[in-house]
Amino acid sequence: MFLTKSLVALAVSYGVAAAALDKRAHVVVCADPTNEALITQEFQNAMTLATDASQYIAQNGADSLFIAYFKTNDPAVVKAKYDAIVNDIGPANIYCQPFPAGRNVSCVGDNAVTRIPSGNIYLCPSWYNLADHSALCTQSTLASTRSGTLVHEMSHAEAGTHDRSGTCSGSKNLSAADALDNATTFSCFAREVFKNTQC
Ligand SMILES: [Zn+2]
Repeated sequence: MFLTKSLVALAVSYGVAAAALDKRAHVVVCADPTNEALITQEFQNAMTLATDASQYIAQNGADSLFIAYFKTNDPAVVKAKYDAIVNDIGPANIYCQPFPAGRNVSCVGDNAVTRIPSGNIYLCPSWYNLADHSALCTQSTLASTRSGTLVHEMSHAEAGTHDRSGTCSGSKNLSAADALDNATTFSCFAREVFKNTQC
């Protein structure tokens, strides 16, 4: 999910100030050590998904899987978006709940929410019920994983995507321009690459 919100001015001033001090990746902010560990692990898994997708495109270019999701887009342009996710210039936070002090986020219908331009990611209660990363290998169908959702959110934060379709089948029916702009497209393609090449 993608939100442009009222804290824009505050987020911009924070972002500029923080960027001047420290160029860093998304940082997990969570008081619960169990959830902090889970998020840290799943974020690493998301980075693996994006890295593998980038390398797959570098090796295979516009193969049938690429065309199914990204249509006539230039493989180099798509690869660059995965690379932006992996490079994660930040600075921004991943909050383990949608209501850190003063930042109430509506989670209705969403597993997670990314605010722009801060790039802060808020995990919703339903995110914790998504499949473990390992389900990509153990489920016969393409699993909806916590790691895949983090790829989706990171594409909002680092690659400028929006929400055009929230399902993999719907993502495959988008125009080339909308596919390049759709967060779920990046999650689905990366999960399919992982399932096809890493299991
Ligand atoms: Zn989204």
